[in-house]
Amino acid sequence: MPDKIIIFDTTLRDAEQTPGAALNGTEKFEIAKHLAQLNVDVIEAGFPRSSPSDFEAVQRISNEIEGPEICALSRVIDQDITDAWNAIKGSPKPRIHTFVGTSEIHIKGIMRSDQDTVLKKAIAAVQYARSLCQTVEFSPMDAARTEPQYLYEVVEATIEAGAMIINIPDTVGYAIPSEFGQLITGILKNVTNIDQATISVHCHNDLGLAVANSLEAVKNGARQIECTVNGLGERAGNTSMEEIVMAIKTRGGHFDQVYTEINTKEIVPISRLVSRLMGISVAPNKAIVGSNAFAHSSGIHQDGVIKQRDTFEIIDPEDVGLKESQIILSPRSGRNALRHRLDVLGYQIEGEQLDKIYDRFLVVAEKKKEVHDADLDAIMSDEVRSIPETYIFEYIQVLSGTRISATTTVGLQNQGKIIEKSTAGEGPVDTAYKAIDLITNLPLKLVDYNIKSVTEGKDAIGEVTIKVQNGAHLVTGYGASTDVIEASARAYVDVVNKVIYQNSR
Ligand SMILES: [Zn+2]
Repeated sequence: MPDKIIIFDTTLRDAEQTPGAALNGTEKFEIAKHLAQLNVDVIEAGFPRSSPSDFEAVQRISNEIEGPEICALSRVIDQDITDAWNAIKGSPKPRIHTFVGTSEIHIKGIMRSDQDTVLKKAIAAVQYARSLCQTVEFSPMDAARTEPQYLYEVVEATIEAGAMIINIPDTVGYAIPSEFGQLITGILKNVTNIDQATISVHCHNDLGLAVANSLEAVKNGARQIECTVNGLGERAGNTSMEEIVMAIKTRGGHFDQVYTEINTKEIVPISRLVSRLMGISVAPNKAIVGSNAFAHSSGIHQDGVIKQRDTFEIIDPEDVGLKESQIILSPRSGRNALRHRLDVLGYQIEGEQLDKIYDRFLVVAEKKKEVHDADLDAIMSDEVRSIPETYIFEYIQVLSGTRISATTTVGLQNQGKIIEKSTAGEGPVDTAYKAIDLITNLPLKLVDYNIKSVTEGKDAIGEVTIKVQNGAHLVTGYGASTDVIEASARAYVDVVNKVIYQNSR
């Protein structure tokens, strides 16, 4: 009987720490819902001690998401563990994950402590966590650079103390596959009570080896993999969920000892969702989820794939949720056709909201003549907001050119009233943002501006993602339109609403 690999997703904890990727509670909840549809085994929902808003987000996910275990991170400090437990105890399947650095550089350099003291803290933390929660995971942080004898000692003692999952992190992404595999073998050989625990791995991608290291660990006996959607995470990121899952599935013969229970058809949808909410686009050549991952440009390859798909494709795009769009909507498509297509894409829209989206769809359809699934996704991302909209975008008028300075007028709705302001200045985007500042009285510092076309052709929908600084936080905004200036303004209004929401809490 092959063993199940436990997929432990840490998108909401490790990836959420990426600069500029911070999510609000509603966005975290949205991703958690999709992670449950993806059928991950464990969702690491956050680090409750880190902030009251993260505590609340973890608590809501624990109370409302069914299916996966919900895990919270804590240092080996009582207050951290208490907070983690209070945040997750509403889940039918709660898990506490506690960690402490065990390499010399962490013990001496960062904690100014010694091996004995750290060992005692780890044992006490696991015992305390077990007194609250049935399932406890322990991580000796920087395990890949920890002295092996000491690592075995810590692992044995924490299992003795009640840890059921021992996670071996390559915190700095330093390991190479053969070496990391041997580390797992060493633990299996030298830790006498290892049969009472599951070995997990948590690899970082600083050398581009996170997936390779995780697979090598599985070959050597690890049975839980910690990973993130799109491989996001600190620095170069974490083990990529989609690559791990599809490697095990596609090379089933090679990995015949193991399987995962991931619903692979949800891979592309969740990749898009995470990319949009975190405001971090996926590289076109990214394995599995990049926009070119299933594109064939050379004539020989195109010809081959048409005659027989597997000549140049090792994965059926449908397996990861890439649906060839069979139906393309046009300006003649009715409300029902639109509703049906949205339903297929996973949006259940009725009544007034449908009317509003239909109007928006018609504007796009008139301009583009053909509306593809990707266009609908962009419209929906723009229309369906996760937070209350204090300001609603109404219209924009721009006068601009190479020989004149730009003049822009923007109209926003606030509490049922339209407020209009105009400014003149450098360029259309800059003046649009200044006009919005005049309306909202909330000047924001723009730190990132990104524009991307959704489909091909000069009438394509443009997606604009921006980041602004709000105190210590970066806030991401999103806007879409066939007019890039309008998309830019919509993204800015989105960010304004998020900032107002964040500041009100
Ligand atoms: Zn990490």
